[in-house]
Amino acid sequence: MARILITSGPTRQYLDPVRFLSNASSGAMGCALAKAALQAGHQVIILSGPVRVRYPSGAKVIDVETTQQMLDAAVEHFPKCDGLIGAAAPCDYQPTVIANHKIKKNGESLVLQLIETPDIVATLGKNKRKDQWTVGFALETDDARFQAIGKLQRKLCDLVVINGVQAINSENNEIEIIDPTGAVIAAGAGTKQKLARQILQVIGQKLFKAKSTPSVKQSKRV
Ligand code: C5P
Repeated sequence: MARILITSGPTRQYLDPVRFLSNASSGAMGCALAKAALQAGHQVIILSGPVRVRYPSGAKVIDVETTQQMLDAAVEHFPKCDGLIGAAAPCDYQPTVIANHKIKKNGESLVLQLIETPDIVATLGKNKRKDQWTVGFALETDDARFQAIGKLQRKLCDLVVINGVQAINSENNEIEIIDPTGAVIAAGAGTKQKLARQILQVIGQKLFKAKSTPSVKQSKRV
């Protein structure tokens, strides 16, 4: 049994009190992973951006909105977990300035200056203990394997799950799992639930260490 932290869904970066940047991530993959992990007897903490999916009641769910909030929650909860599955699609950019009031239209173009948000998987990867593992996702349109290997190295992941853009907002997905040598160690297609079970199986085979695990208090959404 392992304690697994899962990031899931999109995050939002506000421009003003009512407008934000985000993406179409549904949280379905994170939800499927949580169900598969619980079914396999693991404990699960989900850090989720705003989504409609219903996470399994056996998971502890922590709701967040921005990438920084997801990072803060990840940094807080990761030390008591054995590993991270980064299934979220955090918003990669934030405006340099967040307006205090709703930005008014004035008939002219509006120029936004954006800076990168912090990277959650990379931050946890850099600070993980020897007994902890991190698994990232890579959603690529071109040169998927090449891009994914770069991501695995930059974010210090133990495995990366590659999927295509068809995964967004869909019940189905197509994946390849690569290890730090760049080898494709598993591949599959089908429902996200089926693929989640496969991902958990591969993580189990490649990353779980035999050790005792004091329990994480299970509760509903907080
Ligand atoms: O660089 P890219 O966004 O494609 O990387 C995808 C992986 O990195 C996913 O596992 C995603 O959850 C994670 N990620 C993150 N924090 C970000 C951006 C991406 O943890 N700010």
